[in-house]
Amino acid sequence: MNMEEKLSAEKVIVIDFGGQYNQLVARRVRECNVYCEIYSYKTDIEQIKAMHPKGIILTGGPNSCYEENSPTYQKELFELGIPVLGLCYGAQLMMHVLGGKVEKAPVREYGKIQVAVDSHSPLFADVPETTICWMSHNDYISQTAPGFSVCAHTADCPVAAAECAEKKLYAIQFHPEVLHTVEGTKMLYNFVRGVCGCTGAWRMDSFVEESVRQIREKVGSGKVLLALSGGVDSSVAAGLLSKAIGKQLTCVFVDHGLLRKDEGDEVEAVFGPNGDFDLNFIRVNAQERYYAKLAGVTEPETKRKIIGEEFIRVFEEEAKKIGAVDFLAQGTIYPDVVESGLGGESAVIKSHHNVGGLPDYVDFKEIIEPLRDLFKDEVRKAGLELGIPERLVFRQPFPGPGLGIRIIGEVTAKKVRIVQEADAIYREEIAKAGLDRTIGQYFAALTNMRSVGVMGDERTYDYAVALRAVNTVDFMTAESADVPFEVLQVVMSRIINEVRGVNRVFYDLTSKPPGTIEFE
Ligand code: GLN
Repeated sequence: MNMEEKLSAEKVIVIDFGGQYNQLVARRVRECNVYCEIYSYKTDIEQIKAMHPKGIILTGGPNSCYEENSPTYQKELFELGIPVLGLCYGAQLMMHVLGGKVEKAPVREYGKIQVAVDSHSPLFADVPETTICWMSHNDYISQTAPGFSVCAHTADCPVAAAECAEKKLYAIQFHPEVLHTVEGTKMLYNFVRGVCGCTGAWRMDSFVEESVRQIREKVGSGKVLLALSGGVDSSVAAGLLSKAIGKQLTCVFVDHGLLRKDEGDEVEAVFGPNGDFDLNFIRVNAQERYYAKLAGVTEPETKRKIIGEEFIRVFEEEAKKIGAVDFLAQGTIYPDVVESGLGGESAVIKSHHNVGGLPDYVDFKEIIEPLRDLFKDEVRKAGLELGIPERLVFRQPFPGPGLGIRIIGEVTAKKVRIVQEADAIYREEIAKAGLDRTIGQYFAALTNMRSVGVMGDERTYDYAVALRAVNTVDFMTAESADVPFEVLQVVMSRIINEVRGVNRVFYDLTSKPPGTIEFE
């Protein structure tokens, strides 16, 4: 078996019924070193059969399976001889289709619930007999389908899990993919590695090797153009393409003057002529152009639009100088694909710039997206594999419009300097306190508020900086992080002392929702 066959032999398919956690299911499966893709429940069974999956997982979903017009799947899916695991809606649907009964539950369960499991079931191997699981359901399985036996229950839910071991069909009412389910990863591991018999061939070193081979095959002697932002995705794409095709790759890095302190130089140090990668690197210093366009603009969406459009203009000018290329590379990752509604069935969350609009201003024949199948944590692993420095790979998430949306109101060179300095101090102190890998996301923003203060016995009338730090469980919501008061105090005093133009520092306590993580 060659590498490609080996990798594809290991595929598990997630069939999406519109659940909130569909991407998490796939991520958790991949953490078991098993490759996995998400497909809509509308996907034809022939297409599923043709992929020869080693296992199938049905996700949760908002509907009630006994209602007309609710998402469903034909019975044949359960007769292919391929192991199937139904989660929540998927579990209910499996019972419903196979002759069991699903009804509105007398008691709905939501949150962490104690579940008693039968540890003889292969699904619950090595799981303690009582364990905390995450529940979120209004309906319940009141009667299992013929051939099934109950292998878990709770105080209010007689069928928390059921199995037909002979046909390798498993139904779980709770959500093993959510981290609140203490043994959830083990259960998914038991399913994909145990029941489905996957060997765990999906690893980042084999991904890199295989991608390099595929890129070489596809690109041949062609030329590839990539817009490098300095973000994790485009950096890893650059690293991968460089390894595959070297100088056939040209990266254009636009410094729009809205990057964090010293960030432009850091990107250049890694990918520029003195860096470690074999590629053509073009840095465009477009700061002045951006500040000129943004002068007097205060409306957040207008600012975003200007920053986005200007990026296209600058990139276009560079592309013209380079002339026709064969491929335009993009750092699209799997969540972009799924969230754009191209992969799964959950509501379209946002149309992602990488997927929706292809730039029509560059003369290229084809798009190449080497990270299209990867989740963010896998992109990071691939980045380390490729030798991209840790500080870039574990870089704090940074919005496309950059500091432009962390400066409330008009953007000016002076304000950019203030927020850059304040943010650098904040990041430095967080790292010093050893919190840089424990807090999800943290940054400084510049409010548009000026207030009166006193410094050196003189009246000041300066700006207020807002510090933000949030933690997110599973990326659905966020809460402000518990940064120790002593750390905040040091940050405050350093910002006031070292950054001219600031006389007040706030800490933002707002969670998401109702707040967003960024300010604009
Ligand atoms: N809608 C179904 C219920 O309420 C399934 C919920 C889910 O999949 N989370 O029981």
